[in-house]
Amino acid sequence: MSDYDILIAGGGLVGASLACALRGRGLHMAIVEARASSTAPDPRRLAIAYGSRCILDTLGVWSGGAACPIQTVHISQQGSFGQVQLHHHELGVPALGYVVAAQDLNETLWQPLNHSPDLDLLRPATIEHISLHPDAVQVTIHESGRTRHFSTRLLVAADGGRSSIREQLNIPVSRHDYRQFALLADVNLPQPHRHIAYERFTAEGVFALLPMTQQRATLVHTVRQYRLESLLALDDAAFAAYVSAAFNDYLPGNLTFGPRLSYPLHLLKARQQTRQRTVLIGNAVHTLHPVAGQGFNLGLRDAAVLAEYIAAAQCAGENMGAAKTLQRYARERDRDQHTSIAFTDGLIRLFGSPLPPVPIARSLGLTLLDILPKGKRLLAQQMMGLHGRQSRLARGLTLPQPRGADAL
Ligand SMILES: Cc1cc2nc3c(=O)[nH]c(=O)nc-3n(C[C@H](O)[C@H](O)[C@H](O)COP(=O)(O)OP(=O)(O)OC[C@H]3O[C@@H](n4cnc5c(N)ncnc54)[C@H](O)[C@@H]3O)c2cc1C
Repeated sequence: MSDYDILIAGGGLVGASLACALRGRGLHMAIVEARASSTAPDPRRLAIAYGSRCILDTLGVWSGGAACPIQTVHISQQGSFGQVQLHHHELGVPALGYVVAAQDLNETLWQPLNHSPDLDLLRPATIEHISLHPDAVQVTIHESGRTRHFSTRLLVAADGGRSSIREQLNIPVSRHDYRQFALLADVNLPQPHRHIAYERFTAEGVFALLPMTQQRATLVHTVRQYRLESLLALDDAAFAAYVSAAFNDYLPGNLTFGPRLSYPLHLLKARQQTRQRTVLIGNAVHTLHPVAGQGFNLGLRDAAVLAEYIAAAQCAGENMGAAKTLQRYARERDRDQHTSIAFTDGLIRLFGSPLPPVPIARSLGLTLLDILPKGKRLLAQQMMGLHGRQSRLARGLTLPQPRGADAL
């Protein structure tokens, strides 16, 4: 007899989303989380795709008031004529996406989890060792100075880009260091943003300006390593002038920026996402460049689809940790993960190259994309997370409930 049906390693945004999807089903679950509290400051602002909002809504953890809708996405390249504009009404959705503070989303996800009778929260605690067996995974954790041992029928590694579980299992990864950093800062705007998100490609790097509540926006600027220090050292007025120059006429003057922060950027993809009774989700499988705002959205789709497979196995009285269930899950997720990585990586390579004739081709490409409805729709569907099969949760359908007995 195992201690847990499901043990989730990592209570970040993706691990917490999976727990939200599976609570109330009679499954005995645990989350092992290294951080002491879910309210720790997190300066990231996340672009949440429309499809992700649908999943969070179905889970009852969408806090609309704290989210700013994106109604238009404006993609352009400095010094070129081409541009693309995506409008929510052309696509028949109330918004193309939303911008939320990662900290607000984290707190909203944890609210129901803090009071879930079927979930044990082990925090601050870290996974120290795992060993895989046909009937269960044995997990050793370090919690508040003591070592504890548990067994679980299914181990979900949602322990982020530096996943210790992935490393312990010797799962190979493909890694690419972009030699770039994301420079983040909130901005107070002198006039309303009209819910427009800008994606601006320049020789200096990419600038994404996302609308936020209360006439604010947030800037994500990807810069090469050698430029980072000098940009962090600029005084506020010089930094505002640098950003305004990149946007030319698109932004009104007098931008005032909050503190600037930076994150290193790389691409990582695990070559396998399942092992015996173990599955990796979220950043543990794929860590993406934030330029297209895909990372959490992709991880949330992992969680939504995995929850669907677990629910189906539970209802059918099947073993949810069975290799065939996990492999079917991995096959399904592979396609979405590869498309999202190719989309994000392709954007960086295409817009990162200063070599002629690439800039001219980019201008033509953007112009063509703007006038070709089919191309625009494909781009929008990728950005909204609405390409490929949609999980039940994304379609607004709750997961089927088991008939009563413990079906594992
Ligand atoms: C600057 C920036 C901007 C971004 N913008 C966007 C955006 O606009 N839209 C978008 O979709 N995505 C965006 N992302 C990506 C997004 O933040 C991540 O994809 C997402 O947070 C991944 O969630 P996760 O739960 O998989 O991993 P994490 O958030 O890394 O969570 C992992 C959790 O596991 C815990 N943990 C780690 N090791 C252990 C252990 N051994 N034992 C126990 N617990 C452990 C950690 O404490 C952590 O809480 C951005 C990322 C960055 C850096």
